[in-house]
Amino acid sequence: LIELHDVNKYFGALHVLQDINLTVGKGEVVVIIGPSGSGKSTLCRTINRLETIESGTIKLDGQPLPAEGKALAKLRAEVGMVFQSFNLFAHKTVLQNVSLAQIKVRGRKKEEADKRSRELLDRVGLASQAPKYPAQLSGGQQQRVAIARALAMNPKALLFDEPTSALDPEMINEVLEVMQQLARDGMTMVVVTHEMGFARSAANRVVFMSDGRIVEDRTPEEFFTNPRSDRAKDFLSKIL
Ligand code: ATP
Ligand code: MG
Repeated sequence: LIELHDVNKYFGALHVLQDINLTVGKGEVVVIIGPSGSGKSTLCRTINRLETIESGTIKLDGQPLPAEGKALAKLRAEVGMVFQSFNLFAHKTVLQNVSLAQIKVRGRKKEEADKRSRELLDRVGLASQAPKYPAQLSGGQQQRVAIARALAMNPKALLFDEPTSALDPEMINEVLEVMQQLARDGMTMVVVTHEMGFARSAANRVVFMSDGRIVEDRTPEEFFTNPRSDRAKDFLSKIL
C-alpha cells in the first residue's frame, strides 16, 4: 500500500533520510523506533508529503504522491496523521472537530458527517463528549478525538507520530487500546512510538532507524529477542 524506494532527504547539509526503502502492505502495522533525531518524524511526514524529498519515489496504492493541489489534499485525507500534540481546533466542539474535514474535504453533508462522527466517537469511547470543547477533555480523550477525526476521512492508512508521548501515564493505555483495536480491525498503520509493549503485541514489523537510515526491519520477535546491530542493542538496553 505504501512504498518508499531509495528515498533521500536533506535539511541543508543534514542528510536526514538516507536511501530509505520501506514497504507497508495493506493491513500491516509497522512500528518505527530509534534514537531522538534519527529521522522518524521526518519519515512519517514525507509519507504524507508534509516534507518534500530530494530523490527516490514514494507510492501510495501504486501511484506516486501528488505534489500539490486537489490531489495532494486527497492524499492527506487518505493517509491520516495523528501527532504527539493533538492539534484539535480549540474553538470547535468535539463533534465539529471530527465533522469539519468530512464536510470540507470529502464534501459530505453536515448531517451525514455528524452521523459518522458520532459512530466514530462511540468507537473510541467518547460518545458522551461530543458537545464539549477540547480544553474540557483529558489528554487521552483529546488524542482519541484526534484518532476519530483521522478515521472520519476513511483513510487507507494512518500515521502516528508518538501519539502517547505527551500523555500522563494513566492515559497512555486508553489510547493504545484504541490503536490495538484498529490494528485488529485491519487498519494499515505506521506508528512511531516508544511503547515497546504496543510494538510487541500489535506490530507486524519493527523498523529501527539510526542517523537517517533504516538499520533493521524485522518481526518484533526477531527484533526484541535478537537485535542484529550494535545500535539497536544499545538502544534497547537503554529503554527496556
Ligand atoms: P525524536 O525522537 O526526537 O522525535 P526523530 O527521530 O523524530 O526524533 P526528526 O524530527 O525526524 O527526528 O529529525 C531528524 C533530524 O532532522 C534532527 O537532527 C532534526 O534536528 C532535523 N530536523 C527536523 N526537522 C527539521 C527542519 N524543519 N529543519 C532542519 N532540520 C530539521
Ligand atoms: Mg520525532
